Amino acid sequence: MAQLDQHRRLLLAALLALPAARPVRAAAASSERVGEPLAPWLPGWLDIHHIATGRGNATFVMLPDGTSLLVDAGASLNAPDVSVAPRPDASRRPGEWIGRYAARHLRRAGLDGLDYLLATHLHPDHTGDVNESSPIAAGGAYRLGGVTDVAEQLRVRTLIDRGYPDYAYPQRIDAPFWRNYLAFAGARRKAGLAVERFRVGSAAQIAARGHRPSPHRFEVRNVAANGEVWTGEGEGSRKLFPDLATLPRADWPSENQCSVAIRIGYGNFSYFTAGDLTSYTNDGVLPWQDVLGPAARAAGPVTVATADHHGMFDGLNGDVVRSLRPRVWVIPSWHIAHPDMLQLERMFSERLYPGPREVLATTVMRENLLANGRLTRRMLSHDGHVLVRVAPGGERLQLVVTDNRNEQDIVRLAPPAILLTPG
Ligand SMILES: [Zn+2]
Repeated sequence: MAQLDQHRRLLLAALLALPAARPVRAAAASSERVGEPLAPWLPGWLDIHHIATGRGNATFVMLPDGTSLLVDAGASLNAPDVSVAPRPDASRRPGEWIGRYAARHLRRAGLDGLDYLLATHLHPDHTGDVNESSPIAAGGAYRLGGVTDVAEQLRVRTLIDRGYPDYAYPQRIDAPFWRNYLAFAGARRKAGLAVERFRVGSAAQIAARGHRPSPHRFEVRNVAANGEVWTGEGEGSRKLFPDLATLPRADWPSENQCSVAIRIGYGNFSYFTAGDLTSYTNDGVLPWQDVLGPAARAAGPVTVATADHHGMFDGLNGDVVRSLRPRVWVIPSWHIAHPDMLQLERMFSERLYPGPREVLATTVMRENLLANGRLTRRMLSHDGHVLVRVAPGGERLQLVVTDNRNEQDIVRLAPPAILLTPG
């Protein structure tokens, strides 16, 4: 009996030590049921799928009027000892899995073809890698891997990247993945297909195509690219990078620092993602290298944000976290170094911003889960496709994690919906 009392006292003490019950209010019961296939997208809803292939970033967005957007189609050729196993498996290339994912969700919605493919920057884990064993595309002009695999499977109406048409700023990269992407963009231009350079500040470049009626307005805002950042007012922007002529070549902006950032707004909901933008300044030595900070200030606060650069050490600093202060963090991860412990510390820190939040990752390696166990155990999910599903008008948010071991889209996790209020 005494033992039981002590057990009760300990339990009560543990409960009192917990933070106040999460103010996650269940809205109308979610239609998503664990163990069943994901319900298809419906007009008026905004679906943001963080696809988990274990080989790079790929985010498939169904906008409320049926306009579709794929942000990146990563296909890294990383050695398996530093990455999770490819998902669903290695029988297809990651870009094929991504293309099939987008195609089947479009098909279920009664749509076909991808309206926009946006490449945040030209790196293998965002646009794909190729080698001499990669198959050659039907037209013969380039090899298949990442975005080229996607374009081989479904019609891409507009390709947008940071470098078109000359890809000269700040410098070209002498590597197969770079040359292959440029050959792909060149072949599209030759064929009369749309390729555009990302226009910072614009809210019209990724525009509503109106495939389905949707009474509520949404906006995709171009926030940053090539060191140029939206001011937050109108279509204004400012440049952060110094003139290259004034910098030693070793300090020239990196491909990551040139990444594209966007903000999606829909009623009470907003979303920010920025490829591999970083905030690290070499401890203040090169302040202009913090592009993520100004981009986050222009875009935030938001409901959902990605941990950019996969939650690596140089992604989120305290100011970025304070500016974005999201209800939900999504970490696009698959490599042994994703995420970094201090990045997790900041995402969870109620000193940086108060209130509840969820942290989900696409895939975290076992070694990383063990190394960062103090914080990874607080994550809502660390394995599977992460879907952010937003109700018409942005009035509530449903998180769904689906199984990435096959193409059945079986729901693994569907916590109660989160009601969203203005501001
Ligand atoms: Zn990356």
